[in-house]
Amino acid sequence: MRILVVEDEPTLQRQLKSALEAAGYAVDAAGDGEDGHFLGSTESYDAVVLDLGLPKMDGLKVLESWRREGHAMPVLVLTARDSWSDKVAGLDAGADDYLAKPFQIEELLARLRALIRRTSGHATSEIEVGPMLLDTRSSRVTVNGEPVRLTAQEYKLLAYLVHHKGKVISRTELTEHIYDQDFDRDSNTIEVFVTRIRKKLGVDLIRTVRGLGYCLEDPGTA
Ligand code: CA
Repeated sequence: MRILVVEDEPTLQRQLKSALEAAGYAVDAAGDGEDGHFLGSTESYDAVVLDLGLPKMDGLKVLESWRREGHAMPVLVLTARDSWSDKVAGLDAGADDYLAKPFQIEELLARLRALIRRTSGHATSEIEVGPMLLDTRSSRVTVNGEPVRLTAQEYKLLAYLVHHKGKVISRTELTEHIYDQDFDRDSNTIEVFVTRIRKKLGVDLIRTVRGLGYCLEDPGTA
């Protein structure tokens, strides 16, 4: 899962980026509305954290413009404390949720998990696929109750497939959603990751769809 953070306050931006990375997301950050708007229009994100008070281009304008252009990714806006008019304006402009500053990082993480989950149609933070359970709160995976030790990149890839269970996902799409902008991307490594994940899981849940990509399936439905 890949997140865009648009926040002009350097300390908060850094805190958000490191907390999100620690929670297993690939993260890009922008410090003004123009940069943020550009990234959100050209890159693929699973969710966006958008401050409303931004230099160069106001957060509301950024959001309205994305929605007009048809970018439907979930957006959580950060509003000034107690500003009900900010909240209303944000929701009307197409925000999916809001959080008033100052806030606890834990609450932001929980709200993002809920947004991403709802977007992919999952009702709870634990997603089950046959004998495998992926817990999006703890970023842990078990098979038949036994913990599976995955690297951060392996977890990101598996979590993306799990959130899009039953759909064929191309290597390009996986690459776009598990690396941040600065990462030197190579879609060949995806194959290596998938091989390692299959081995670690010990159960055959990821199907290769020749020429198209990968599909994670419940063994019961395959
Ligand atoms: Ca601001």
